[in-house]
Amino acid sequence: MQRIKSGLVFIAVFILCLISLKGLDHFLAQQIIARDAKILTEKFEDVIRASALEMNKLPPISKKDFNCTPDTTEYLRNAVYDAVFIRWVGVTKGGKIFCESNSVIRDIHKIKTHRISESFSLGVVEIANREHHELILVRHFEDVNYTASIIPLKPSYFVPLECKDCLEYSIGFESVPFLTFGFDAFEGEPFVSKKVELTSPYFVATFELSGDFEFYKQYSTISWLFIVMFALSFSVWLTYLIHRWQKKSVSMRSQILSGIKHHEFIPFYQPVVDSRTQKVIGCEVLMRWQRQDGSLMPPNQFIPYAEAKGLIIDMTKGMLEHVFNDIKKLGEKREALFFSVNIVPEHLDNDDLYQLLKSVVESELLKQHRISLEITERLPISDLVSARRMLDKFYALGIDLKLDDAGTGYGGFSYVQNLGISTLKIDKMFVDTIGNKDNFNAKTIEAIISFAKTSGLSMIAEGVEDSQQVAYLSQHGVYLIQGYVYSKPLPAKQFFN
Ligand code: C2E
Ligand code: CA
Repeated sequence: MQRIKSGLVFIAVFILCLISLKGLDHFLAQQIIARDAKILTEKFEDVIRASALEMNKLPPISKKDFNCTPDTTEYLRNAVYDAVFIRWVGVTKGGKIFCESNSVIRDIHKIKTHRISESFSLGVVEIANREHHELILVRHFEDVNYTASIIPLKPSYFVPLECKDCLEYSIGFESVPFLTFGFDAFEGEPFVSKKVELTSPYFVATFELSGDFEFYKQYSTISWLFIVMFALSFSVWLTYLIHRWQKKSVSMRSQILSGIKHHEFIPFYQPVVDSRTQKVIGCEVLMRWQRQDGSLMPPNQFIPYAEAKGLIIDMTKGMLEHVFNDIKKLGEKREALFFSVNIVPEHLDNDDLYQLLKSVVESELLKQHRISLEITERLPISDLVSARRMLDKFYALGIDLKLDDAGTGYGGFSYVQNLGISTLKIDKMFVDTIGNKDNFNAKTIEAIISFAKTSGLSMIAEGVEDSQQVAYLSQHGVYLIQGYVYSKPLPAKQFFN
């Protein structure tokens, strides 16, 4: 089963990796074509602007004074010679050519033009084959024009390309008449493409550059071999990590289950002292994991996992059996003490803990001592009404409830109102602020104390480490102290002695 799971994880990660890397690659190719589309637009503008400048150098003309002499032919020829992008220029009117730089058979009847500035028009000779479109620039005078043929823009002129016929473009002027021309290199749909728009007072032009799969392959920066190799190693690595994590968590679970079976969850007892009399009046029962090799594991290494996985219930039960044994063996001669046990909301979901404590209370095993419960306000209780119903049964046995970590969670006020709390445990976090007036939490401890007083609750201050804190608390009416200032949590024998 585990192998099948790992296999599925591997395949899923591998496919995901392939898709995302290919997606990234495609995205990069799109960026490249977008950049090239911009270059196309700029190049086109340059060509038109440079050609218009050259045509502006030609002298103004009018039909009635114009004669096509060898001199005029000569200056037209020179204009072609000087201009980079013009390959033919003629003096024309309507469909007629009066004079030209060199004779090229050209039917200028079939030119569609569109005005692009005050004195210039752009035109295209209508020919079916778009690979050989002919671009025409016309400079207008009153009754006659200069007409120039511009060399066609081949994609390779503006984008350095190694693939042949893999790129095409189309330029459209959304004007009347609609002009469109381009360079149609390949059959079928493009693989990548990008449109750029150019707007002037005279026209709106759209430049679209597209590449086929050959183009994409050339610009595809991540090779298939790399993608497959990367996806393979990443999937192996991730599958291994997931497998290890699962194994670890399975083994944590089975180790805890074996710990429960072998009664490895034992209590330590931390005294709660009345600072007025310096007497121990009770303790908090804190869980430790005594491993088979004799080592002791602190609760932060296993309690969060045990609480999350619902294992804490059986662990508490196992630990309580140690507590009852300790009381039975060592507690007989001690003055009355309370033993405060940490519970989680789940403990209130059913009768199990209640039945256990009921039988212990009724057996009179506890003698002069009593059990008390602590619930943290950090964990949510989904149904306060049914929790209260269960708690009332504990109260009937003489078992009271303390609110742990008071002031740090969200449940505080409503827990006090609804659950019949007897005591607030002031968290170490607030006790630590004693003597530090600038700290925001320093105000909070005063608020918690005054809240407890007005609600008629007892208080225990937790994590008290020095006599200055004891003095402050005592001045504020908090006399029950739990902390290193008196004692760390102790194993049973030391505590009872
Ligand atoms: P907690 O309920 O807030 O318990 C008080 C923690 O503060 C204990 O840590 C205690 O040793 C420590 N402490 C007490 N006085 C001082 C002090 O003066 N200075 C400092 N630095 N620490 C002090 P511990 O025993 O490590 O327990 C940690 C937490 O593990 C407990 O916090 C409680 O949330 C949880 N835990 C312990 N035993 C149980 C248990 O049986 N059931 C459940 N559900 N949780 C438990
Ligand atoms: Ca506690």
